[in-house]
Amino acid sequence: MDNTRWRSRRLDRLGSAIFAEVAAWKAEARREGKDVIALDIGSPDQPPSLQARETLAAAALRPDAYRYPGTEGTIRFRETVARWFGRRFGVAPDPAEEVLSLMGTQDGLAHLAMSIADPGDAALLPDPGYPVYQAGLAVADVEAIPLPLSEDNGYLPDFDAVPEAVWDRVKFLILNYPSNPLSAVADLAFFERAVDTARRRNVLLVHDNAYSEMAYDGFRPPSVLEVPGAFEVAVEFHSLSKSFHLAGGRLGFAVGNREALSSLRALKNNIDFGVFLAVQEAGIAALEMDMAGHESVSLLYEKRRDVFVAGLRNAGWNVPSPKATMFLWAPVPAGWSSRQFSREMLAQAGVASIPGNAFGVRGEGYVRLALVETESRLTEAAERIGTFLRSAEPKQGETMV
Ligand SMILES: *Cc1c(COP(=O)(O)O)cnc(C)c1O
Repeated sequence: MDNTRWRSRRLDRLGSAIFAEVAAWKAEARREGKDVIALDIGSPDQPPSLQARETLAAAALRPDAYRYPGTEGTIRFRETVARWFGRRFGVAPDPAEEVLSLMGTQDGLAHLAMSIADPGDAALLPDPGYPVYQAGLAVADVEAIPLPLSEDNGYLPDFDAVPEAVWDRVKFLILNYPSNPLSAVADLAFFERAVDTARRRNVLLVHDNAYSEMAYDGFRPPSVLEVPGAFEVAVEFHSLSKSFHLAGGRLGFAVGNREALSSLRALKNNIDFGVFLAVQEAGIAALEMDMAGHESVSLLYEKRRDVFVAGLRNAGWNVPSPKATMFLWAPVPAGWSSRQFSREMLAQAGVASIPGNAFGVRGEGYVRLALVETESRLTEAAERIGTFLRSAEPKQGETMV
């Protein structure tokens, strides 16, 4: 790039350019007057519960809501998180030192490497994996080492395959189950192995549990902190964006090892001064409603999943049915690259998706489709994709990107 005077080289190592590319394809299709069914970005299309919104509105009217809130979150918020965690996972964190509020999980994940590692350290990241993990390492000058995930091992990493010399440099490792983009899930037995590995290798185990409350067919995703002794070596990130539809409110929290959380808090203390108090109140309302047994959002996405998966299979595309998350991780038909398939599906069927290689080199051969439109729109998307699949041919000669 030429004009780099006001642009750090660090920026070039941030997220994949593919997301911007898909946005440009979408804008182009809309300019041409196409009705685009946008299943590319995983942003919930529904609002938070009325009760959460009313709590937010009432709190926003209070004159004392506009103070700097404090990086760690109000004690009321942290106590509510601790109670929710105890109820949901059977382990009770100390709200004073084992819970930290976040401006979205993204905030915590992006700042973690900077607060617990130094330039020259390394971290293991899932490949394919959620892009912010890599971005957090890039801004901290921490080396990213991919932890390969593949379909034949259920997208669970093989810790023993990581060479000794690599472990010596690794400061932390990131896992994400239920996973974006893979929709893979893990059970407690896997987390026991992960905690044991972290302890033996003296690394911090970082678990992104953003989809813990978005699972189907009765499955309840576990927390890594359910493993006895996990608080000594692990932190877990939770989000109110997906399960409680509060994405724009920017609210999440971290639970777990107090030393790691204290470091993250110390860094954030220099950058932000916490989440708007009214948003924390909305979060308290959402978590309290959840504890009171209100229907979770899982059912909404479970129905969408059923409709869309059935529609696509009917159309001749045999996609796996996810047990959790709002994503379908779908293998592209033979002969196509991820990028080429995603682009043509948008151009011809008007259905937007994300090419799998946006999430790492091992995502090539897949596209990610998000269940963020209504059932009737998803039915229509499946029909249009069916028509596209019957007529489309991979273009000869176009190379994989
Ligand atoms: C959406 C998402 C997040 C970010 O959530 P926020 O709380 O909105 O920052 C984190 N991790 C994964 C895997 C996600 O899909």
